[in-house]
Amino acid sequence: MIDVAGFEDDSITNGPGLRFVLFVQGCPHHCKGCHNPETWAFGEGCKYSVEEIHTRIRRNPLLRGVTFSGGEPFSQAAELARLGRLVKADGYELAVYTGFTFEELYAASSPAVHELLEQTDVLVDGRFELLKRNLLLRFRGSSNQRVLDVPASLRAGTAVEMPFGRWRTEGR
Ligand code: SF4
Repeated sequence: MIDVAGFEDDSITNGPGLRFVLFVQGCPHHCKGCHNPETWAFGEGCKYSVEEIHTRIRRNPLLRGVTFSGGEPFSQAAELARLGRLVKADGYELAVYTGFTFEELYAASSPAVHELLEQTDVLVDGRFELLKRNLLLRFRGSSNQRVLDVPASLRAGTAVEMPFGRWRTEGR
């Protein structure tokens, strides 16, 4: 089961195009200035199976993509990797917001972390840093956070930013 803080069934603010957003419950990062501190406590969300969430996503034929946000998605990597495989098989773009950096995830020993990374198209990585907050950035809160092309990053073994145009990340 996935511990869920909430859903947005048709969001336009968590990546380009109309997206389904899953906010997971539980985050170990506790960034100062976090917009969702109510998602920090582990085990206090509502429990949904992978299949229930997958069915909910497929109800809307207008969706372009799916975004996992939080909370910290990589704290529930095994179940989210399974959901990720299903939404990828349906043809959705999968974006994941994480407080970890790509380098931390890439070096992790957990197979589940790597399974989730392998399903991810776009990773918005890094903790929210209040001193680097920039309201002009699109799809991220602080300038240390990066919008990464995960398949290219995994091929290169190093973080590769999304090409300009696929995810336009400056301005409004
Ligand atoms: S990683 Fe995200 S959800 Fe977690 S504390 Fe930082 S800003 Fe909040």
